[in-house]
Amino acid sequence: MRRPPHLAVLLLAAAPLASAQSTASTEDSARGRGPNGPNIVFIMSDDHGWQAVSAYGRPDGVRVNQTPAIDRLAAEGARFDQFHVENALCGPSRAAFLTGCVSARHGFRQNGDRFDSTQPTWPALLQQAGYRTGVFGKWHLGTRPVGFDDYAVLKGQGPYYNPPLLRPDGETRVHGYTTDIITETGLDALRRFAEASEADGRPFAICIQHKAPHRRWAPAPRHFHLYDHVRIPEPPTLLDDWSGRGPASAMQTMTVARHLDEQDLKLKSPWELDAEQKKIWDLHYGPGVEAYQAAVASGELAGDDLVREKYQRYAKDYLACIQAVDEGVGRILAEIDELGIAEDTIVVYTSDQGWYLGEHGWYDKRWMYEESFRTPFILRWPGRIAPGTTSDILAQNIDFAPTVLELAGVEIPERMQGRSLAGFLESGATDTPENWRDGVYYHFYEARGPHTVPEHDGIKTERWKLIRFPEVDPDGDGPAGPGAWELYDLVADPDEMANLADDPAYADVRAELEARLTTLRTEMESQ
Ligand code: CA
Repeated sequence: MRRPPHLAVLLLAAAPLASAQSTASTEDSARGRGPNGPNIVFIMSDDHGWQAVSAYGRPDGVRVNQTPAIDRLAAEGARFDQFHVENALCGPSRAAFLTGCVSARHGFRQNGDRFDSTQPTWPALLQQAGYRTGVFGKWHLGTRPVGFDDYAVLKGQGPYYNPPLLRPDGETRVHGYTTDIITETGLDALRRFAEASEADGRPFAICIQHKAPHRRWAPAPRHFHLYDHVRIPEPPTLLDDWSGRGPASAMQTMTVARHLDEQDLKLKSPWELDAEQKKIWDLHYGPGVEAYQAAVASGELAGDDLVREKYQRYAKDYLACIQAVDEGVGRILAEIDELGIAEDTIVVYTSDQGWYLGEHGWYDKRWMYEESFRTPFILRWPGRIAPGTTSDILAQNIDFAPTVLELAGVEIPERMQGRSLAGFLESGATDTPENWRDGVYYHFYEARGPHTVPEHDGIKTERWKLIRFPEVDPDGDGPAGPGAWELYDLVADPDEMANLADDPAYADVRAELEARLTTLRTEMESQ
C-alpha cells in the first residue's frame, strides 16, 4: 500500500482551528494548492447520454440540445471523450464510481442487488481523512449511504415530482420537481460545508446525484413547452434493423418502434402529481394525446412515420428533463463563484452511463456499444487544468475513486482496480501516463432483467471492439455453443454497423483480441 507522507497531516485536519491553519501552510507550500487537498463537487445525472450534452454533440456534428452550464464546465476544464463504464446499468455503475472496482469485485452486478457498504469507498475514505462529506439525490444501492456526514436521498428510483427524501434523522416528503429539489438540497449543503470549512479548515466532498433524465422522462412544468415547435434531429441509425451486427441486437425489447409504453409516450400522466400539477400537465399533454391517438387509430400515422413520431415525443421529454439538470449545474457553479472557492474546488459532471437517444432504433442503455458504454465526464480544476482541454485517454468509471483519493493525499486501497488519473490531471490532462491501459473491459450481467439484453463482455482498444455474447446462438440452429461474437473497426465504422467477427480478413485481429480479452477478464474478475 502506498502511504503518502502527508496522510498524518490530513488526519489532523479535524483538529482545532490553530492546528488546521498550521497544517494548511505546510500543505500549501508542499503541494501548491489549498489546505489538505481540493474540495470535490461531484454531480452525477442518471442516463444522460453524451450526445445530449452540447459540449459533446453527436458524432455527425449535430447538436440535439443546448446545455450551456455543462458546456461552461467543459470550456473552463477538461472534457473526456473516451470515458467508459464497466457495466452500463444504474446500480453497478454507481458502485463502480464509489469503490473503484468492477461489478465482479464490488458485487453489485445487476439492479436489485444490495450494495455491500462495508467495502472501501472514496467518500468514506475521505471522511476518515478529515473531509466533510455529503450525498444528495439518487442513491439507488438498496442500502443507506455510509461514509457521509450528511445525506438526503431518494427512496430507490424516486419519482419526478414530490419525492420522499431519506435523511439521517428520518423521512420527509418535499413538494416540487425532483431535479430542482436535489439541486437546492445540494446548494444548501454546499453553503453549509463551505462555511464550516472556512471555520475549521476541513475540505469537503459533496455528491449531487440527479434522477433525471431517467425513464420516464417527466420534465419540469416550466420546460413542458421547450421543444413544442422544434423537430428533434433524428439519428442516422433510427431505423436500423441490426442486420449488419449479428443475432444479439435483435433480442432486445427496447425499441422506440415497439416498446415505449403509454406513460413513456405521455398518453397517461404520472401517478405522483398533485391536483394542481396534474392540471398543468393535462393542459400541456392532453390535446397532443387526443391528436396522436386519433392519428394512430385511423391509420394515418403508421410504419416508419409512427416510429418517427414516437421518437419526437420521447426525445422532447428526455431533452426537456436535461434542461433542469443543466440549470442546476449553472446554479452550483454560480454558488461556487459566490463563495469564492472555485480555485480550491474540483467540479465533476458525469452520468452513471450513456444512453440511446434513438440510435439503432433504441432507448435505454445496457450494451457495450458506444452510446451506452461511454458516458460524459467533464472535470474543472482552475489553475491546474487549462480551459478547454479535451482528452482521448482510455478512462473508466473505476478510475474515479483512486483519482480522488490520490488528489486528497489518501492511500489507495489495493483492491481498487481503477487507475488514478491524478498525475495526468496534475500534468494538465495532456500527456497519457506511461503504462496506461490500452484496452477497456466491460461486462453486462442483467440478461434476465428488463429489455432482455443478453449478457456480454468485451474489450475495446483505440481502434477495435470485440464483444462476446456467451449465451447467444450464433446461427439460430441450436444450443448456443461458443456464443456469438462481434468485432467492430471503430475508426472505419464508428456507428458499429458492420460486424467483422466472421470475416476471414480480420481473423488475426479477432484472435489477438480474443487472447487479450481472456487475459483482461481473468485480471478484472479476480476477487
Ligand atoms: Ca442510469
